[in-house]
Amino acid sequence: MSINDTYITRYSPNGIWYGQFTHFPDFVTQAVSTRFGGYSQNNDLNLALHTGDNTEHVIKNRTKFCHAVGSSIEHIVTPQQVHGERIVYVTEADRGRGAWNYADAISDCDALITDRPNVALFLCFADCVPVLFVDPVNHAIGLSHAGWKGTAKKIGQKTLLQMQKRFGTKPKNCLVGIAPSIGACCYEVDDYVADEFRKEYSSLDTILMPSTEEGKYHLDLWQANQLQLEEIGVPSDNIAIADICTACNAKILFSYRAEQGKTGRIAALLAIKE
Ligand SMILES: [Zn+2]
Repeated sequence: MSINDTYITRYSPNGIWYGQFTHFPDFVTQAVSTRFGGYSQNNDLNLALHTGDNTEHVIKNRTKFCHAVGSSIEHIVTPQQVHGERIVYVTEADRGRGAWNYADAISDCDALITDRPNVALFLCFADCVPVLFVDPVNHAIGLSHAGWKGTAKKIGQKTLLQMQKRFGTKPKNCLVGIAPSIGACCYEVDDYVADEFRKEYSSLDTILMPSTEEGKYHLDLWQANQLQLEEIGVPSDNIAIADICTACNAKILFSYRAEQGKTGRIAALLAIKE
């Protein structure tokens, strides 16, 4: 796992490692987990309730992780992610939704936004791209789940446009973090996936690179997410890419591809402090 000046790894005394974007302001609590320090099999910190893991272990993992990063399981709000494009505004009334029980998570939802303090947006990932948004002017935040489908449908761009509508967020002020997820190095796709990007993106040079195999491509989800945000006016300097591939680092993070679908989930947590 590489460490660069835009994304750093921190260690909490209770045994949790997590990443943070260095350009995010202090009024947010932010953390992207790793697999270390949990109660699941092999001491994994699986943070998802829907992967067939022991529910009690996941709740203990969530409690420990939230505590380590300065939040609390009572504050988290989490959706049932479906690779769609529904974005939901959440408030104090939603705290705890999906925290202990998958059934009461926000259904059919792949991005959350809020301007309320101590409402911790919490989404789960294994290769899909976590996109974190901080509006330092209006004190508002957003968090999107962008797999290939969400990235093709520009869920990140749509999340920011929702923040603009609801909070007055200006793209030129918004800070964005693209957290660890599968890199182009390990993400080979076929024409079925490539076609969805050809439909939505005018410039594909940095997104789809030919593979050595005919009809296969290396898809760069990080660049695609960056590009769709620049398209609506986010300055490139405001966008930090962690540049850490989950498949290359499957022993540290979780990778759906590298582990053939049998794996846990890391989580990204983002909240406004009181
Ligand atoms: Zn890789």
